Amino acid sequence: MNIDLHVHSNASDGTLSPIELLTLADRLKIGALAITDHDTIDGSKSALAAGIPDQLHFITGVEISASRPPSFPGPGSFHLLGYRFRTDDPVLNNILRKLQGAREQRNPRIIERLAGLGFDIRLEDAQAETSDKSQLGRPHIASAMVTKGFAGSINEAFDRYLGTGKPAYVDKYRISCSSAIRVISDAGGISVLAHPGLLNITDPHRLDRLIGELKSMGLQGIEVYYPEHTRAQTAQFSKMAIRHKLLVTGGTDFHGAIKPDIQLGIGRGDFSVPYELFKQLESASV
Ligand code: AMP
Ligand code: ZN
Ligand code: FE
Ligand code: FE
Repeated sequence: MNIDLHVHSNASDGTLSPIELLTLADRLKIGALAITDHDTIDGSKSALAAGIPDQLHFITGVEISASRPPSFPGPGSFHLLGYRFRTDDPVLNNILRKLQGAREQRNPRIIERLAGLGFDIRLEDAQAETSDKSQLGRPHIASAMVTKGFAGSINEAFDRYLGTGKPAYVDKYRISCSSAIRVISDAGGISVLAHPGLLNITDPHRLDRLIGELKSMGLQGIEVYYPEHTRAQTAQFSKMAIRHKLLVTGGTDFHGAIKPDIQLGIGRGDFSVPYELFKQLESASV
């Protein structure tokens, strides 16, 4: 039985609503699901309010974009997944509200940068790419650039303009990794380093030191199973999890139609996350 512990709904930049995700997961006979939206727990809240299908195990989730730790400087963010937290925790809800505000302020500034590069594109063009509810972000701006013929694909728009350090890149307010780990833990949850393979750390010792540093901040797990991870990376990260006594998790990073090559539970078709990992996450002490 498959599980998927990294999924975006239209509470962030996914295209399916939390209820549509529950229905799809149920139809695909996914054993366990977490909705891990960027800097918001509205997706998890809506799913719980709607009612979880009988055969599906569900845990609360979030993906927080944190600033990089001092030992690993540079632009861009570290993604920390949170699981099993209480959705009514006031500190967590407050911090996420602040992070949502920072996201809203960032979009017009990206548009300004694009205008400076000579692209006639408006916020409404990006809005037109979202389903009516979803949180506007770079994928929608990228999608609008494709629609207007300014880029051949969403990937190209990121690679040339919107990605970290590229000409239209705008940084946003973030909390530190240690704050993100603490707020998740204080809300009764478990924190996990998302997709370490995307950090592009080629020196294994450097990555090992980083994991050790995050663990000393209270990190409890590593997302070992991820569609972009090579076989070698999966093996490397799982050894690291054992060495640092960390939980192992995994998920597809499903976003629906905005990332059409990734399917719920199976990624590009050759991917799966063992059910056993869900049992370990579910029974781990916080
Ligand atoms: P934002 O929340 O606005 O920072 O945008 C983050 C989203 O952009 C995530 O959903 C990523 O999947 C997506 N993203 C980030 N980098 C790239 C890239 N190089 N190509 C395609 N999508 C990307
Ligand atoms: Zn996303
Ligand atoms: Fe991420
Ligand atoms: Fe994600």
